[in-house]
Amino acid sequence: MRAAESSNSPTSAGARLIDGVALAKLIRAEVAAEVVALKEAGVTPGLTVVLVGDDAGSAVYVGAKEKASREAGMTGETIRLPASTSQAELLALVEQLNADESVHGVLVQMPLPKHIDPDTVIRHIDPLKDVDGFHPVNVGKLLIGHSDGFAPCTPAGVQRMLVHYGVKTRGADVVVVGRSTIVGKPMAALMVQSGDGADATVTICHSRTRDLAGHTRRADILIVAAGRARMITADMVKPGAVVIDVGMNRIPDASRKSGTRLVGDVDFEGVRQVASLITPVPGGVGPMTIAMLLRNTVRAARRTLPA
Ligand code: NDP
Repeated sequence: MRAAESSNSPTSAGARLIDGVALAKLIRAEVAAEVVALKEAGVTPGLTVVLVGDDAGSAVYVGAKEKASREAGMTGETIRLPASTSQAELLALVEQLNADESVHGVLVQMPLPKHIDPDTVIRHIDPLKDVDGFHPVNVGKLLIGHSDGFAPCTPAGVQRMLVHYGVKTRGADVVVVGRSTIVGKPMAALMVQSGDGADATVTICHSRTRDLAGHTRRADILIVAAGRARMITADMVKPGAVVIDVGMNRIPDASRKSGTRLVGDVDFEGVRQVASLITPVPGGVGPMTIAMLLRNTVRAARRTLPA
């Protein structure tokens, strides 16, 4: 079967590109319009991000989340705690945020310092404010197929991309490389549900998979979230497949001032000659994650309106 609509056929220049920057901008505009409507109804959506410690990468992500929520007209707050914060102190803060009616989304940035158990923290977040979609209640709802939970932002963003670009998912063979709880497993759970943008036959691969290429070559839609720079090469991809690269890896690059550059898990230059539609890195899945976080926060806020 064909993986994508005919407009996605590869051209002589290679696969058509999925523009995550443009799509994320569209979603953020949709969110901003919803924020205006919610404010008129008396609710200003609020996202609070908690950052424990001084991990440089986390600080960048958290800053971007705060900026994006403010740009969308929401209240975006970051609470920065020292790395010495105890688990009990963090849990007390989470409970305080759970009880705060002006806060609709609560997100504790990972990774946490080693003395704090991330699962315990996630379980303390009110599932109705768990806009990351990591609480077991939301994970369960996603698996069951209940639409009133929150799906994790990165896989939800990937699904939205597929829908936006008219990729036919019904009956398609989807292969997900990676089985993490934040990307691989929820990605598979989304694609296997019945309904639009799903109804796929899903295979999950991981580091113990025998003959990875044998699986990836069968994929109409290949979604890669392994964290291994350029591990998917052209010979591992079926001609005409749709390839979604979630990976973000920094590799040395002497030609850059920073001495590094960002690459995905897919060998972009090689694979684009074979695929019909492909996400670049950067500019593909990355921008979608924050856009979907804003979307989840607006949904959380909308739910607080009287029925
Ligand atoms: P994890 O390290 O948690 O999971 C990686 C998964 O890939 C594991 O299931 C692992 O298998 C599997 N894997 C690793 N090597 C191989 C291999 N050689 N063959 C098959 N499977 C393999 O990573 P995440 O899911 O958190 O992230 C994956 C990538 O996506 C990273 O590059 C990350 O930076 C990026 N990312 C990007 C986001 C975005 O917004 N664009 C958001 C989140 C992540 P096993 O379980 O057996 O170890």
